[in-house]
Amino acid sequence: MAEKAPKARVVAEAHEVDTFHPPQKMLAKHPSKPHLASLEEYQQMYKESITEPKQFWGRMARELLTWTKDFETVHSGSLEGGDNAWFLEGELNASYNCVDRHAFKDPNKVAIIYEADEPTDGRTLTYGELLRQVCKTAYVLKQMGVRKGDTVAIYLPMIPEALIAFLACSRIGAVHSVVFAGFSADSLRDRVIDARSKVVITSDEGKRGGKLIGTKKIVDDALKQCPDVSHVLVYKRTGADVPMTKGRDYWWHEEVDKWPAYLAPEPVNSEDPLFLLYTSGSTGKPKGVMHTTGGYLLGAAMTGKYVFDIHDGDKYFCGGDVGWITGHTYVVYAPLLLGVSTVVFEGTPAYPNFSRYWDIIDKHAVTQFYVAPTALRLLKRAGDHYVKNEMKHLRVLGSVGEPIAAEVWKWYFEVVGKEEAQIVDTYWQTETGSNVITPLAGVTPTKPGSASLPFFGIEPAIIDPVSGEEIHGNDVEGVLAFKQPWPSMARTVWGAHKRYMETYLDVYKGYYFTGDGAGRDHEGFYWIRGRVDDVVNVSGHRLSTAEIEAALIEHDAIAEAAVVGVADELTGQAVNAFVAIKDGNEGTDALRKEFVVQVRKSIGPFAAPKAVYIVPDLPKTRSGKIMRRILRKILAGEEDQLGDISTLSDPSVVNKIIAIVHDAK
Ligand code: ATP
Ligand code: MG
Repeated sequence: MAEKAPKARVVAEAHEVDTFHPPQKMLAKHPSKPHLASLEEYQQMYKESITEPKQFWGRMARELLTWTKDFETVHSGSLEGGDNAWFLEGELNASYNCVDRHAFKDPNKVAIIYEADEPTDGRTLTYGELLRQVCKTAYVLKQMGVRKGDTVAIYLPMIPEALIAFLACSRIGAVHSVVFAGFSADSLRDRVIDARSKVVITSDEGKRGGKLIGTKKIVDDALKQCPDVSHVLVYKRTGADVPMTKGRDYWWHEEVDKWPAYLAPEPVNSEDPLFLLYTSGSTGKPKGVMHTTGGYLLGAAMTGKYVFDIHDGDKYFCGGDVGWITGHTYVVYAPLLLGVSTVVFEGTPAYPNFSRYWDIIDKHAVTQFYVAPTALRLLKRAGDHYVKNEMKHLRVLGSVGEPIAAEVWKWYFEVVGKEEAQIVDTYWQTETGSNVITPLAGVTPTKPGSASLPFFGIEPAIIDPVSGEEIHGNDVEGVLAFKQPWPSMARTVWGAHKRYMETYLDVYKGYYFTGDGAGRDHEGFYWIRGRVDDVVNVSGHRLSTAEIEAALIEHDAIAEAAVVGVADELTGQAVNAFVAIKDGNEGTDALRKEFVVQVRKSIGPFAAPKAVYIVPDLPKTRSGKIMRRILRKILAGEEDQLGDISTLSDPSVVNKIIAIVHDAK
C-alpha cells in the first residue's frame, strides 16, 4: 500500500443515514425493562470498564458466574506479551454454571427447545432433564478414558445431544473441539489430528432440509487416517443401518443407560481451556482458536444479558450452527448461563419452505432471534409473502458474520420485525469469543450498516495501515484493533502460539489486530468495512468491498454481490463485481450497465465496477461467508492456486465461475 489512507469519505456519507432509536413498541411489550436505563448508563459503565478494568470485570465475574473457588487476581499479562490471563486463582465448572444452578432452582424450566428438521418432530428438555443427560454422558466419556485437559471431537448435527456433548466434556474438564457436521472427511481428519482428539462424538446420520447426511460414514472415512482415536460415541438420530467398528464404536443410548444420572462437576482453573474451534477459513488455513473457561463464559453471559437484553422467561433463538463460534456462544453458552430457553434448530431456513424461521418464532414465542446476513439475503430474495407471521414476542433481531447491507437491515427491521424489535448488528470473531462492537438492545441507537459502539472492556483503535500509527478523533478510517485485553479473547492458536502472536498481537505492538478495516464516524460509531485483504484501491481511493456490494444490492435484480480488486495498469486496482441475480431476471448487457450505474450513483464514478460477472452463486464458506480470495485468484488467472477450498459450502460453483470469467475474456 503506497499511499496514506485518505480520510473517511464513506464516514462522511454516514452523516446522512438515519438513526433508529430502540423502538417504543419494543419497550412497550418488554416483560420488565432493559437491563440498562439509558445510553448514559452504558457510557458510565463503559468508562469504568476501560479505566478500572480489574474492578469492573472482578465485579461482573462474581455477579454472573458461580465460582467453586473465588479468584484473587482479576487479570495478568499484556497484549505485547500474549500472556493474558483472567480470574487467575478462580475455579469453576462450565456445565455447573449452565445447568446445575438453574436445575436446582427450577428443574422443570425448559432449557432446550428442539425444533427438528421436520416441523412435527421436535421436543423440549428441561434443566432437570438436561442435568441428568449431561451427567450420564460425562460418565460415558470418563469410562472411555477422557481426562481433564483431553480434547474430544464433536461432529454432530443441530440436535440437543450436541449441547449435551459440549456440557458433558466441560463437566469433566475435557476440551471440546466441535467440527461443523457438513465438513468433509478430510477436513474432519485434519481437525481431529491437529487437536489430538482421541474420542469422537457423532450420530448415525443427520437430517437437514429434508436430506440425509451420512455423518457416521464421514467419520469412518476420516478416522482411517486417525490411528489415535480410540472411541467413537454414536447417537442414533435416524436409525440408519451404519457399520460399527468393534471395540471403537459405541451407541450413545446403550452407554448412557449404564451410568448414574448425577456426576459431580470437576472444577477447573479459570484459565483451563474450555474449547478449541477452527475458524471458518475465509482467509486461509483454519486456525484452532483456544478459549479458556472463566473469561469466555463471562463474555458469553455478559453479552447475552446486555446485547440481547435476555431476561428470565425469554425464548432465545440463534440460527447459527454449533459448528461455528456463533453457535458456541449464542446457541449454547449465553442462553444457558442466563438460565433461559434456547432453540436448537436442526434444519434450514428454506425447508419445508421459506417461512420456516418465522414459523418457529411464532410457534415458540421467540423473544430474540439471531442470524447471519447470508440467510437474510436468501429470505429477502425469496419474497416478503413468506413473512406473514406475527412474531409478536420478538424484541431483538441480531445479525452476525458479515457486514449487513443497509437494504437488508431495513428489510429485517420492517418486514421481519414490523418495526417492533431492535436490530443489533453484532461485530465479533471466533477469536474475540463474544460480541465486541455492538448495540445493546433497548439502549443503543442504531444506524443501518453500523455495528455501533464498543462493548464493555473493548477499547477500539483505528490504525493507519501504512504508518502503523493510531488515528485519533472521529471521522477516521483505517484498520481496526483493540487496545486492551478483555476476558473472552482467545489465548492461543492450538499448537501454534507463534502464529497467534504473528496474526493478532505482533502486527501492531500493544494492540490486538482484528484483520478488518473500519471507520469511526462523527459520532464515534463504528462501520466495519470487511477484511483488510478485501479493500480495493482504485487511483488512491481505498474502497471497501462491503460498501460497493451494499450499493449493488440496492438494485432490485441483485440477490447477492461480491466485489474484488484486480490489478489495473491505469488505476492500480480496478473494481470487479460478481453478482447473483434474482429469479425472473435476464443477465443482459443492459442489466450489467444498470448495475454499474447503480454504484456510480450510490458511491461515485471511481467505485464503478469495470467488469460485472453474472454468476449462478457466489463461493461461500460453510458458515455462509463470501470467499473473495477465490474470486481474486480466478480473475488473476491463478485457478491452479486457489488454496484451501475445503471450507466451501458448494465447491462446484468455482468451476462455473471460472467458465463465466473465461467466456467474458
Ligand atoms: P478465518 O479467520 O479463518 O479467515 P473468519 O474470519 O470468516 O475465518 P469468523 O471468526 O467466523 O471466521 O468470522 C469473523 C469475521 O467475520 C470478522 O473478522 C469480520 O470480518 C466478519 N464479521 C463478523 N461479524 C460482523 C459484522 N457484524 N459486521 C461485519 N463483519 C463481521
Ligand atoms: Mg477471521
